[in-house]
Amino acid sequence: MLQKIISSARRVVFFGGAGVSTESGIPDFRSAGGLFAKAPEGLTPEMILSRSYFYLHPESFFDYYRSHMVYPQARPNAAHIWLSALEKKDRLRGIVTQNIDGLHKQAGNKRVYEIHGTIHENHCMDCGAFFPLKIVMEARGIPRCPHCGGVIKPSVVLYGEPLDKYVCIGARREIANADVLIVAGTSLAVEPAASFLQDFDGKHLVVINREPTPADSRASLVIRGSVAETLSGVNIE
Ligand SMILES: [Zn+2]
Repeated sequence: MLQKIISSARRVVFFGGAGVSTESGIPDFRSAGGLFAKAPEGLTPEMILSRSYFYLHPESFFDYYRSHMVYPQARPNAAHIWLSALEKKDRLRGIVTQNIDGLHKQAGNKRVYEIHGTIHENHCMDCGAFFPLKIVMEARGIPRCPHCGGVIKPSVVLYGEPLDKYVCIGARREIANADVLIVAGTSLAVEPAASFLQDFDGKHLVVINREPTPADSRASLVIRGSVAETLSGVNIE
């Protein structure tokens, strides 16, 4: 069934969440058994990864961020690689991802809308200079700009911060123009990203997720299982 849908699709858009990255060894901090257990006493990951915590306790923020949010050894899995192959065939219009790990770009995809930002872009809050991940990971305590001494902030969307307007416009346009939308590895609990799906008006909505999602009732096909295994079983001709 999925094979048939993909074979006839011309404008696929992929909307992915944490379940795409867990198969590369990156834990989902929202799920039970994720990072909740590892947060300092009395704090949830959502509290630490918030705008206010970043400004009030930057040193603790960066300790947590470096040890729990960034996995420099992670590599693209079969799902990322399959999507990269589909883009090379000019049949994937875009990837909209809630993940900040940059693995889709690492796999070679070009049209990636990272709606929660990426660990690979970091900027000085004073002079605006951009820096790679390395400078954040190698810093002790708060990473500082070598030019002006300002704090370097990862370009990831913290709780309490708005999503980037232009990334959202691009993502919504791709979804609106898709003929097939694959929603994978997300329970669609996070707004406003989840509401992007309402823009889809194409032929087939496919949901691949281990747990039920609010989009299941609208879907042409619901697959309960691994995203990597499911996609890599589909031939791209
Ligand atoms: Zn600076």
